[in-house]
Amino acid sequence: MSPTVKKSNPSAIPSVDRLLRDDAAIALTDQYGRAAVLDAVRVVLSSLRRQMSSQDATDNTSVDYSQDGILARAATVLEALMAPSLKRVFNLTGTVLHTNLGRAPLPDVAIAAMVAAAGASNVEYDLAKGRRGDRDDHLEGWIKRLTGAEAATIVNNNAAAVLLLLNTLGQDKEVIVSRGELIEIGGAFRIPDIMTRAGCVLREVGTTNRTHAKDFAGAIGEDTALLMKVHASNYAIEGFTAAVPEKTLATLAHDHDIPFVVDLGAGMLVEMERFGLPHEPTPAESIADGADLVTFSGDKLLGGPQCGIIVGRADLVARIKENPMKRALRVDKVTIAALEAVLRLYADPDSLVEKLPTLRLLARSAEDIEAAARRLAPEVSKRLGSSVTVSLIACQSQIGSGSLPVDRLESAALELRPVTPAKGAAAALRQLVESFRSLPAPVIGRVRENALILDLRCLEDEAGFIAQLDGLLNS
Ligand SMILES: *Cc1c(COP(=O)(O)O)cnc(C)c1O
Repeated sequence: MSPTVKKSNPSAIPSVDRLLRDDAAIALTDQYGRAAVLDAVRVVLSSLRRQMSSQDATDNTSVDYSQDGILARAATVLEALMAPSLKRVFNLTGTVLHTNLGRAPLPDVAIAAMVAAAGASNVEYDLAKGRRGDRDDHLEGWIKRLTGAEAATIVNNNAAAVLLLLNTLGQDKEVIVSRGELIEIGGAFRIPDIMTRAGCVLREVGTTNRTHAKDFAGAIGEDTALLMKVHASNYAIEGFTAAVPEKTLATLAHDHDIPFVVDLGAGMLVEMERFGLPHEPTPAESIADGADLVTFSGDKLLGGPQCGIIVGRADLVARIKENPMKRALRVDKVTIAALEAVLRLYADPDSLVEKLPTLRLLARSAEDIEAAARRLAPEVSKRLGSSVTVSLIACQSQIGSGSLPVDRLESAALELRPVTPAKGAAAALRQLVESFRSLPAPVIGRVRENALILDLRCLEDEAGFIAQLDGLLNS
């Protein structure tokens, strides 16, 4: 480190040309290219000039105007600029399918498939016939087998699936939905808004807590395009409630020659009870109940990549595929590769809980998580020093992404509490939370009652987690 130069005269700042001839600048140029280094040097220089003019009258001994100092700052600027914005994080929030943290973590087989498909691939090419193919062909067979549906098509996410379905079957017509199901899902997906954008007229029936078959029957008219049921996935209405069963709605719709469609949201492909988890409706059940079309997400309970899946009657799926909007909402080859790899795991449901991360994390026992907490508590404590107490607590995880909103999974967590006088507690906690968030693989927990809670349900890479905690002491 060169000695700090005390100067308040801007002319003391070395010129850009001189800086770029320095060995340190040449090394940076080799790594990042000349244009980027030039930009970074200019950024540092203009910030120095600003600092100078604002500190002119006072003391500026802390400002380093030396050539080495300036280039060291430029290196920091370049490092920050070139660091990937999207990073791996440790999701210790206790919400397994966390929308802000990327929902389902993909299995290794899916990651390998994505890498393999990333270059040129036969995404829309029929290798047997040597001509143009359909990108849905890679997936449709699997989805038909797993849901019992006649046909399937895939789009960007479930919101897109609902939009496309409504626009195809209900444009300029009425769609009848129970008032209790006009839900909003995080990130501004609201059923009434999607309906409007799809060009449909929403016809609400029933009341918030109770809707009966006769409400639907009374609303069906000449302009009715379809009956729709939306799985109220992210909340529960309890108490004096009534909803119309899918079978009844299907019969009613078919008596009037209109389709009955279900937006399932999560849409698990196998019975969750198999794995000791609460029941979640499956597309196969809706199809068996008479639904003509069902939509669900690929990255919720299914445990795959972000996408939306539409299954059901072949004639209706064919109409959806012909809608020009389908082209705007289609999935890319990398998504198709990942989804195909995940669906293949479903061929053997017995090994699913071991091979599919989402299910493995959801089915993980509280005892297993508690054992991890016992292993990790002393390691974490050692690295945080005496200013933070680390205790093992019982907690509850949730599934997330609107699946089973009232069900909780027993879990275990580390509770990190700064040891400070009451007055400085909030600042100390904020600093602790920020230091975990600033790690190379940021650790995201939740804050509760003046402590940082790290739910360990989703922590599988314990060694990686511990290794980077060494960095906390120096920060
Ligand atoms: C999650 C959800 C959606 C939106 O699905 P995305 O895949 O996030 O676009 C739509 N409807 C229901 C019922 C949902 O639970």
